[in-house]
Amino acid sequence: MIWFVACFTFLLTALLVSVVWLVFYSRVRKHAAASNQRIQALEDQLIETRADMEHHRDLVFDAMAEGVMLCGLSGRVVFMNRAIHRIFGIPGNVPANTTLLEVLRLHEVDEVFERTLKNGRTMGVEINPSGLDANSLRLNAVVVHSSSGQPESVLLIFHDFTRLKELENSRRDFVANVSHELRTPLSMIKGFVETMIDHPSMERETLTGFLGKVRKHSDRLAHLIEDLLMVSRLESGQATVNLQSLQLAPEVSRVLDDLQRNADRKQTQLLLAVDPQLHVLADSDLLEQILLNLLENAIKYGSEAGKVSVHAEPDGHEQIRVSISDDGPGIPPESLDRIFERFFRVDKARSRAQGGTGLGLSIVKHIAQTLGGRVWVESRMGEGTTFFFTLRASADLSADSNTQAQRLRSVT
Ligand code: ADP
Repeated sequence: MIWFVACFTFLLTALLVSVVWLVFYSRVRKHAAASNQRIQALEDQLIETRADMEHHRDLVFDAMAEGVMLCGLSGRVVFMNRAIHRIFGIPGNVPANTTLLEVLRLHEVDEVFERTLKNGRTMGVEINPSGLDANSLRLNAVVVHSSSGQPESVLLIFHDFTRLKELENSRRDFVANVSHELRTPLSMIKGFVETMIDHPSMERETLTGFLGKVRKHSDRLAHLIEDLLMVSRLESGQATVNLQSLQLAPEVSRVLDDLQRNADRKQTQLLLAVDPQLHVLADSDLLEQILLNLLENAIKYGSEAGKVSVHAEPDGHEQIRVSISDDGPGIPPESLDRIFERFFRVDKARSRAQGGTGLGLSIVKHIAQTLGGRVWVESRMGEGTTFFFTLRASADLSADSNTQAQRLRSVT
């Protein structure tokens, strides 16, 4: 009986323990499964957050104008933004584990990396890589430390200031040119005035000659200042532009009338072949400036007793193409690319002697662009020169080229 009670108690206890164990085990399993699920969700969230952060990092760095590169201590590139591709002309993706030298192929950058790492200090240097569009770069390098203070990587930041340097050079050249151009007539005026003061009893005829020279150089000064103001207004976008539909032929005719005396002096024949129906969308004053500069040049640099002609025709794309031709000595081929630069002259002495400022063609180029067109030149030595410019055709009034009527002006 005792055995039976003992066995029964033992079995009951074992059963109870098993039931308790089973309940406990299933609860623990449930908890473990729930915890695993939570850990998995957290891991997924972490991966997603990391991908998001990398995406945002890329967005921010790719929006930067500066080139940013992060390199490990061994010089392997960890990260680089889009500007690096642009600045250094790197086309596609760079394979993992590529070194700084392999990516940029610039020993000077590699040296900056090594020196920054060695000295542990931020470095800033100017580098001028050859064979790249970006040839003036400011490079700042800084060591990046881990939270425990150990050097971890080197951050390289490239600032491209090529355009800024070009602008600075062009500004310096401009100031030097302007000073030179102003000084020349001023010193002539000063010289003549001083001679007149030193010789008060100078003969009337000589005196008149001197005063004529003073007037010529003051006119040149005034002309130069006018041109400079025009260049400044056009370059700063402050020129007043009053676009309206203009009948082209009378606009050209008016300028030809103004230049008639210049042409007479050189016995130049002025020819106008512009369809009276052609209309352009332009500013009358600015159009006059273009025509005046190009026609004045054609007469000035054309041959004695030569011909200067103006043509105009529709040029597709809702544009009118105007051409001004002379039969002068022409422009040397090597000068054609530079002819629209400020102060560029083929023959400086000749241009100055004729009262030129060297700014006329650069003004023409700016105005043509301001009016939505362009300007270019074709020339053959010994045969003559033709300047072309385009204007926007006036929408509803542009002419049918078949009705072209030519009007010839002939003045000798
Ligand atoms: P400039 O005041 O010297 O005339 P421009 O800017 O108008 O200045 O012209 C620049 C230079 O281009 C001139 O000095 C001249 O050498 C050359 N040039 C302009 N037009 C002609 C032309 N029709 N034929 C030959 N050379 C020309």
